[in-house]
Amino acid sequence: MKIYDLIVVGGGPAGIFASIYAAKNGLSVALLEKKNSIGKKILVSGSGKCNLTHQGEVNDFLNRYGENGKFLKKALYNYKVADLIAFIELKGLKMTVMENGKFFPETMKSTDVLDILIKELSSFGVDTFTNTSVLSAIKEDGVFKVVTEKKNFSGKNLLLSTGGKSYPTTGSEGDGYRIAKNFGHSIVEPRPALTPVYVNDYPYADLSGISFKDSKIELYRDGKKIKEHSGDILFTHNNLSGPGIIDFSRYFKKGDILYVNFIGKEAENLSREFIEASSKNGKQSVKRFLAGYRVPERFLKKLFKMLGIEDDTKLSELPKQNRSLLVNKLSKHEFVVSKLGNFDVAMATAGGVSLKEVSPKTMESKLIKGLFFAGELLDIDGDTGGFNIQAACSMGVLVADSVNK
Ligand SMILES: Cc1cc2nc3c(=O)[nH]c(=O)nc-3n(C[C@H](O)[C@H](O)[C@H](O)COP(=O)(O)OP(=O)(O)OC[C@H]3O[C@@H](n4cnc5c(N)ncnc54)[C@H](O)[C@@H]3O)c2cc1C
Repeated sequence: MKIYDLIVVGGGPAGIFASIYAAKNGLSVALLEKKNSIGKKILVSGSGKCNLTHQGEVNDFLNRYGENGKFLKKALYNYKVADLIAFIELKGLKMTVMENGKFFPETMKSTDVLDILIKELSSFGVDTFTNTSVLSAIKEDGVFKVVTEKKNFSGKNLLLSTGGKSYPTTGSEGDGYRIAKNFGHSIVEPRPALTPVYVNDYPYADLSGISFKDSKIELYRDGKKIKEHSGDILFTHNNLSGPGIIDFSRYFKKGDILYVNFIGKEAENLSREFIEASSKNGKQSVKRFLAGYRVPERFLKKLFKMLGIEDDTKLSELPKQNRSLLVNKLSKHEFVVSKLGNFDVAMATAGGVSLKEVSPKTMESKLIKGLFFAGELLDIDGDTGGFNIQAACSMGVLVADSVNK
């Protein structure tokens, strides 16, 4: 049986980039993919447009992966945003950057990105096997033996890049955790990340589609503030979503309390300004006064209804209790987390193969020589905006370079 220099399990961006760069270095590579084609998640990424990466220096990037970001330092310096863009553009597909810093192919088609990757795999002679689900792997006499549903493979090095558990229809169903565990690796409990959040007694179903720019969200657990984050929030028909919630969701647990400032004005200041306006111009309507703040009209109407405030209530007529309730709903709205969106809707997986047992300099296992990890299978997940695909590609290239050395 042929002994490959590198066997790659999983044809997502991490596995594809590892395969291409290893083969470019002259190594023999087998890429094993369980689905009928590689890169299914690339196809759905960025709503089918593929938000490949994000503008920014490596140091800015490291803050976009939660507490484990520093693990990526070597990978991101080794293969930067500019390297990834140059790789795609050299193949004739121009990339374009949006105002918010996100990079997309100019054609806005993820298929165009994937087509380039498939061609590169073939031109560098990677043996790609689709419909080939890896069942198990062991290391015996210095060689990795990989068992699949169809046939077995042997390799001097093995990369596990099977992704996390989110969007299982794309192929990432958590198989890699089992294979890694069999090699003695610890798994940090996988949980949905980049996901909307469900809250108790969600009252805004009828406001679905309303969004708030750059709202501050404070996260409290057991009466203590744990973290805060700012970003855009979206009301959907059954949950809170939008980048502000989705990027922050990796920290949420059932029972946590979120205080949301929808209008960018602290509750104490809004309260003070309310009182000042009432004493200066009590005849002004509450609605008119709040028009000076960025409160969407439908949201305000809903709050008035919930609090029993008449549409034309004047500032001087608003009872103190109602004023403070209104201030709280606008500047310190309490939501109790009931659950997170599950793996079917989460765009990433938090948790995974413990980083303690993997070298960030090479991506090699600290337990088994020649065993490598890359991508979402590891206990690392990034914000929305292109950070996850960039991380997966950078980790893949670092594996290729390490194996080559
Ligand atoms: C809807 C959606 C939109 C997204 N949009 C973006 C975006 O625009 N920008 C961004 O940066 N990130 C985005 N992401 C996240 C990003 O796509 C992932 O973080 C990234 O694809 C992870 O790459 P990976 O190579 O680690 O794993 P994956 O892409 O999950 O690939 C893993 C591969 O391994 C295969 N596999 C699994 N088990 C086995 C097995 N036993 N044998 C063989 N093969 C196996 C799977 O079939 C799959 O092909 C999005 C995610 C989702 C779900």
